[in-house]
Amino acid sequence: MDKKRNNNNLLTEIVKLNINQKQKAFLLVHMKLYIDTVNALVHDILLGKLHYNNLSTVMFKAPLPSAIKCQCIRDAKSIINKYKDTLHKYNEKVKDNNGIYYIIGKKKGKLIKKPRLPKLKLLVYYVNNQNYHINDNFINFPVLINNKSTRINLNAIIAERQYQLFKNKLGLLRITIKNGKLVACVQYELQEVKTFDNGNIMGIDIGLKCPAVSYDTNGKIRFFGNGRFNRYMRRKFFDKRKKLQRNKKYRAIKRIKNKESRIMKDINHKISRQIVNEAIARNVKIIKLENIKNIRKNITKRTTRTSRKNVKNKNYRKYQDICRKNNRFVNSWSFGQLQKFIKYKAIKAGIQVIYVNPVNTSKECPVCHAVNQSNDRKYRCNCGFHHHRDVVGAMNICVSTKIVGNRQSA
Ligand SMILES: [Zn+2]
Repeated sequence: MDKKRNNNNLLTEIVKLNINQKQKAFLLVHMKLYIDTVNALVHDILLGKLHYNNLSTVMFKAPLPSAIKCQCIRDAKSIINKYKDTLHKYNEKVKDNNGIYYIIGKKKGKLIKKPRLPKLKLLVYYVNNQNYHINDNFINFPVLINNKSTRINLNAIIAERQYQLFKNKLGLLRITIKNGKLVACVQYELQEVKTFDNGNIMGIDIGLKCPAVSYDTNGKIRFFGNGRFNRYMRRKFFDKRKKLQRNKKYRAIKRIKNKESRIMKDINHKISRQIVNEAIARNVKIIKLENIKNIRKNITKRTTRTSRKNVKNKNYRKYQDICRKNNRFVNSWSFGQLQKFIKYKAIKAGIQVIYVNPVNTSKECPVCHAVNQSNDRKYRCNCGFHHHRDVVGAMNICVSTKIVGNRQSA
């Protein structure tokens, strides 16, 4: 639980290195040694030559400092864990009268390709936070020179903004290649500041038609983003992909997918910036978001495949509800990203982020708490209350006490 929480708040800053050709060549050799060592470890562990559980740096030879060899072990172990996970998914579980047995290499009755053993290909050099230091435009970490562990000082171009961020708890340092140049990627953990609760809370409903709606305790409502434009973009890219798929142009498909995700990322960055700026301007200390993970769990395979037949069966409300969830599910990656961006921008601004249970947030009446289905964009309750549906969502999120996760004890 704690570990997961930390991972959520890990962010990365890219630092440019100011190095000469000789230093570059030297680092490239070390990066190659690093990935070769990790790949060899993964191989040997899976073959049973090395033990996963009691593996130490003296058990294998590699021309790297022992601190880096330690990191190689951690890397190899995480690769193996991921591989075992995919293998598990690859072997389909089938229940018969005797219990559970596996059909190897099948999914829903169809044969699938066996997952390949992962292999590091991109040159990289990882240093854990115990073993590197950043100060006065230098990054200092261990390498091996003449078979001896030696620390090198790399001249780096570090902005003042980055120095401020590096005052946080640091994570891994990754030396890697970006656009043909060697860079240092520094992980840091955003500390959630304990804010004094001034009673100003903002609930944010994220959706398709309206990318985001905010509602705060002072009753202020604001809409963010342009849902129509987002849908237009998605449709456009979807059509393009379909066309390329017919012509079997897989490279182009990948390129277009990347382009789409870049555009959506940009949109999410802008919306989250506007939301957090609004929160700052309104002196909000707590932002509440829906816990999307629960939405995902609630959707079974059956509901995502529900046909339009239900409409004819006059089960229209149910159909609409499923569709809404369905759409949410399909685009949940994008919602997740928007939430992530809101979260880290909020934390940087000293605003706490709380997740609430999404059950009934769009159905419950904020006045009398009756649960109603809304037929279209308008939400109506028998008590006389009526509003835009997504605003109702934001209102309910704002006042919700169904907080998910035990991080908010204060
Ligand atoms: Zn009501």
